[in-house]
Amino acid sequence: MRRKLIAGNWKMNAPRDARTIVDAVAAEILGRDHVGVVICPPYPLIPLLVGRGVRIGAQNCHHEASGAHTGDVSAEMLAAFGVTHVIVGHSERRNDHLETDLMTQAKVRAAHRADITAILCVGESAADREMERAEEIVAAQLRTALAANTTSANTIIAYEPVWAIGTGEAATPDEIADMHAMIRDEIAVALGASVSEKMRILYGGSMNRSNAEEILSIEDVDGGLVGGASLSADDFLAIVDAV
Ligand code: PEP
Repeated sequence: MRRKLIAGNWKMNAPRDARTIVDAVAAEILGRDHVGVVICPPYPLIPLLVGRGVRIGAQNCHHEASGAHTGDVSAEMLAAFGVTHVIVGHSERRNDHLETDLMTQAKVRAAHRADITAILCVGESAADREMERAEEIVAAQLRTALAANTTSANTIIAYEPVWAIGTGEAATPDEIADMHAMIRDEIAVALGASVSEKMRILYGGSMNRSNAEEILSIEDVDGGLVGGASLSADDFLAIVDAV
């Protein structure tokens, strides 16, 4: 039985009531064993939010531990500040910073080196889906980005169709079910059946309080990566409650 996880990605937003949101989430999840929660704020908020009863993640890391990389933050630094998870390969990083699957793989390795769980994002563009290449693209992303030492304990996969992120248009249950099953098969080929069975695969892309229950009940969906709806404690907790 895979424990479901709801991860919030605040992106480049710093809500004034960040601590209140985290405290409300902490109070709500106290004692709940069937669901895990992680909130990924921008870097400067991390020290304010660690230690308040919710695990705190980051949205990116550099692949090296230290050195001449102006503006970057390493996985080791995140670990030292109490971060437990790091999102890597998000489509906004791929688009804004031209990050490739190989760079993403290096970040997955960096997370493992620092004992942080990597949340590895994969997903096709609208054009890929129109050309009926969605599964091929996602499988290729996975094959490159999955590091050899990947396990279900150090990595979580997030399937995020790019066209569904921030658009209000989530993928359909059939699209999600098909892609999650394909991802699990790919993981079995790359890392073996026992890793694949335990690997958590989250769905991300316009998940909200109205569609969460339906999406989270799909076989092979082990939780959600939530952007916009994670900036409100009410909306985020409605998704957590849907588990
Ligand atoms: C995301 O940023 O990972 C995401 C899924 O965003 P949204 O929920 O806003 O679509």
